[in-house]
Amino acid sequence: METRMCCLECGEALRGRIDKKFCNETCRNQFHNRLNVEEGRVMREINRGLRRNRKILFELMESGKRTIQRSWLLRRGFDFELITAVHEKQAGNPCFLCYDFGYIPLDENRFQVIRLPEI
Ligand SMILES: [Zn+2]
Repeated sequence: METRMCCLECGEALRGRIDKKFCNETCRNQFHNRLNVEEGRVMREINRGLRRNRKILFELMESGKRTIQRSWLLRRGFDFELITAVHEKQAGNPCFLCYDFGYIPLDENRFQVIRLPEI
């Protein structure tokens, strides 16, 4: 049984070595450039969300508020999925960080906002 391999970029049938993936350098470069562009787009989107989270926490602390409702954060576009680290000084008492700012759950709806190195 013969297995025909196709170029990963253009789909043309490949001839030559069995481990060949692309028909030429142009296809190889286009394939990898496309992957890098997509990777860059995903990373920019995540970084934008992390910066937005940090800005929200920063502005909150600037205003002197230290305890905040979940609903308030959500209304301002805070994304609880995006954090840079989790510090857990005591078991079951995590602090979720967005760079140098973070929040500690006080109960289901309230958080204490902190800035490193407070924890
Ligand atoms: Zn090709």
